[in-house]
Amino acid sequence: MPILHPKLLENEFWYSDILLVCDNLPNVERDQVDLTSTFSRNIILKTPFVSSPMDTVTEAPMAILMALIGGIGAIHYNLSPANQAQEIKRVKRYEAAFITDPIVLNPKNTVADVLAIGQKYGFYSIPVTEKGTLNSKLLGLVTHRDIRYFETDQEQALPLSKVMTPGDKLITAQKKDTLAKNDIRTANKIIREHNLDTLPIVNDKFELVALVTDSDLRKNDVFPLATKDKNKQLKVLGAIESRLELAKKRLPLIVEAGADGVIVDASVVFAEQLKIAKYVKQKCPHLEVILGNVDSGEMVTKILEIAAKHVDGLRVGIGPGGACITQEQLGIGRAQGSAIWECHQAANHWAKKHGYKIPLIADGGVKRPSDMVKALALGADTVMMGGLLAGLEESPGEPEFDEDAGHLIKKYRGMGSAEAMAQGGAVRYRVDDAAIKVIEGKVKRVGYKGSGYVYLPHFTAALKQSIHKLGFANIPVLQQQAHIVPNHL
Ligand code: IMP
Repeated sequence: MPILHPKLLENEFWYSDILLVCDNLPNVERDQVDLTSTFSRNIILKTPFVSSPMDTVTEAPMAILMALIGGIGAIHYNLSPANQAQEIKRVKRYEAAFITDPIVLNPKNTVADVLAIGQKYGFYSIPVTEKGTLNSKLLGLVTHRDIRYFETDQEQALPLSKVMTPGDKLITAQKKDTLAKNDIRTANKIIREHNLDTLPIVNDKFELVALVTDSDLRKNDVFPLATKDKNKQLKVLGAIESRLELAKKRLPLIVEAGADGVIVDASVVFAEQLKIAKYVKQKCPHLEVILGNVDSGEMVTKILEIAAKHVDGLRVGIGPGGACITQEQLGIGRAQGSAIWECHQAANHWAKKHGYKIPLIADGGVKRPSDMVKALALGADTVMMGGLLAGLEESPGEPEFDEDAGHLIKKYRGMGSAEAMAQGGAVRYRVDDAAIKVIEGKVKRVGYKGSGYVYLPHFTAALKQSIHKLGFANIPVLQQQAHIVPNHL
């Protein structure tokens, strides 16, 4: 067990009220520190970061970023079930070694169509088939190289038949030699040998059945920690409502889209959540089910006693969120440090009796790397973030110039803000059908931080540096041996 200074048990404490003491001689280099941790019963992360299911935080680009760096993202539910499923599919499709549902055009489509796809999705290599669909005869391939100098309207109106590399000049691979055997190596070899961007996979009728791209193959090398399923696709979660009838409608689409788990998203654990967890597990035993939020040991024990079989992880934190006003409005919640410590004690106690510890996700109030290491030292297994990620390029929405601040900002809003509630968030607070909706969240502007691929490595490095200086080599040892004292500075 970690050592917690007895004074800390006298008062509630936030992250800023504690510090960690160096009791051990570091003998592992910083970059050898292993950040592997358990997100849920069956999902292990190499980086303990989770992006919150909020509508200004997690859609496909954020979930892709999180999964590539070794964490995981949860797509919010202020989207129709079909649109949410689409976001999940975008994540699943992203790094698939074989892209089995690529965007395809027909020969009458224009250069402008390719440019529009490029702007939306970030890639410009598009196969052209007779019908403009998969499983139709491959006529050619357009890549960025073919169209990069086409600037005038006239050039952009050119049909693809005029600019593409025609099918008889293309290097392709046969389905039976690659996809049918799930053999990515052969495809990879062809790409490397011929220095290709994109390799179409065709059947014996020369119909397009899949694509393999060099950038996807390279990403496999660049992101060795990526969180992937057995098909080498990125893992992703979908949020579902804590109302059974709504959850029942959303679930089939999420499952069909390939989600790896669901977060039954609510501000506190309502009794109905436990029924939903049971329903999900019965219908889809392969899905991980995360419930929350909780902030007391008592509640952790109650949930586990009733529903341990159906719960794979718990979100800890009521009121600490950066866009949250629950504590001010309703007087409920508590300091996040105490919440994690107490929930961890309860989860440990339960684990001693039953042989398994339910993973805890520290949710809300993480603003800097020191908050992360403190959350983990107090017993959380991963950290969930909203505001810290909302300013990144990969969050939904565009950056705007803020005259007063003199720099770019992005919008960050609580799911309990009036704006977000009007778009679906009200169900999170169980006031979706209430005439008076008490607001529990605010709308904020956060500084635009640019690419998460540049920004977040600073957090992983700082987290490693901290654990290294404390003399530990990994998160489980930090959780067992941390020495936590009050911060009187
Ligand atoms: P942050 O990382 O401090 O910004 O906190 C993010 C967390 O705040 C989310 O994961 C939710 O648990 C919580 N949250 C999101 N929206 C609201 C809200 O409107 N009121 C209260 N809590 C919220």
